[in-house]
Amino acid sequence: MGTRIESPQHENLQELCQKLRELAPQLDEPNAWPAAQLRLCGEYGVFEWFLSKESGGQGWAEPDVMQGYLELSAACLTTTFIITQRTGACRRIEACDNEGLKANLLPNLCSGEKFATVGLSHLTTSRRHLAKPVLRAEETPDGFVVDGFSPWVTGGPFADHILIGATIADGRQVLAVLPMDAPGVSVAPVAELVGLSASHTGAVHCDRVALGREWLVAGPMEGVMKQGVGARPGGFQTSALAIGLAGGAVRFLQEEAVKRGDLVPATDALHAEWYELRHDLLNAAAGEPVCSTENLRTRSNSLALRSSQATLAAAKGTGYVVGHPAGRWCREALFFLVWSCPQPVMAANLCELAGIAD
Ligand SMILES: Cc1cc2nc3c(=O)[nH]c(=O)nc-3n(C[C@H](O)[C@H](O)[C@H](O)COP(=O)(O)OP(=O)(O)OC[C@H]3O[C@@H](n4cnc5c(N)ncnc54)[C@H](O)[C@@H]3O)c2cc1C
Repeated sequence: MGTRIESPQHENLQELCQKLRELAPQLDEPNAWPAAQLRLCGEYGVFEWFLSKESGGQGWAEPDVMQGYLELSAACLTTTFIITQRTGACRRIEACDNEGLKANLLPNLCSGEKFATVGLSHLTTSRRHLAKPVLRAEETPDGFVVDGFSPWVTGGPFADHILIGATIADGRQVLAVLPMDAPGVSVAPVAELVGLSASHTGAVHCDRVALGREWLVAGPMEGVMKQGVGARPGGFQTSALAIGLAGGAVRFLQEEAVKRGDLVPATDALHAEWYELRHDLLNAAAGEPVCSTENLRTRSNSLALRSSQATLAAAKGTGYVVGHPAGRWCREALFFLVWSCPQPVMAANLCELAGIAD
């Protein structure tokens, strides 16, 4: 495989990113799904970055993964976001001690032949204020019966498997793989979104789906998401994608600024901020954080919003026409206000928007 990307410095990463950049405008079309982009990522070995060599992957170190994400998300946020959800499922499966499940699923996930995603947010950032869990599990002699729905699942209609979380009546939780062909599983029509509609995100319903223990990934236990099964510490990837989007926007401004001197001061300031955030992200990923995860995320959100809007200001009315990347970046940047956004980050974002001290 001559095209396989084996490090973030590999020249083929730029080649892949160029292809993703060229394909990105097509994702604004109705019902688009980045099938070609994901196929390319599979061919370039991207799905191998995140899994260990024992599982058939390349086992990239976390700072390298973050550099990969920075490049990919600057080229196509939708494709990169889908990859993060896919990776969330793969890494949790890889880290569990259900050897049969791993042997069954990981080879085809690593190669890109199969697609898995996650439906976990109702255990962390979604529907947390409701008294009754939206996705419930009952223990049976063979495993579990799962009933209810997972409100947000990216790529649900294209998934072979979804890693779901469900809550038992006594408050303990389980993580399990849901095979999409199991009787009782249905995918709701996907929501039309402000941005990233091509991620085909929507609810997945389970009507008393029987899942044998062979599908179990973790639990039953209290706070199963806090046990960090397969989740890398810190959760930097949301920040990485926000900084990546900002990087794409800053690059556009730099290209414009070559012809338009009036853009230089703002472009230089945004570039300096992007550079510092990238540095802070890579330090955090290397286990040497210079700020808290929340602070990194809050600043990344802010830069994504401001730099994307700066491209629109620079591109003027031309940028406001659908199809121009400036408009797409602005819509995509809004995603970071809602994606996996913990309460302190949301509060800090609101303070910034209100112009008050945090
Ligand atoms: C494009 C997209 C893709 C996503 N993909 C995935 C995915 O693949 N997998 C995954 O697991 N998650 C995914 N998510 C979920 C995401 O990470 C967040 O969990 C989600 O955005 C939280 O939003 P929510 O509306 O569900 O929040 P909620 O907190 O449930 O809020 C819902 C509504 O309830 C009301 N509300 C909120 N708090 C309170 C309160 N305390 N009291 C009363 N009312 C309240 C508000 O009016 C709000 O509009 C995705 C989200 C988006 C937008």
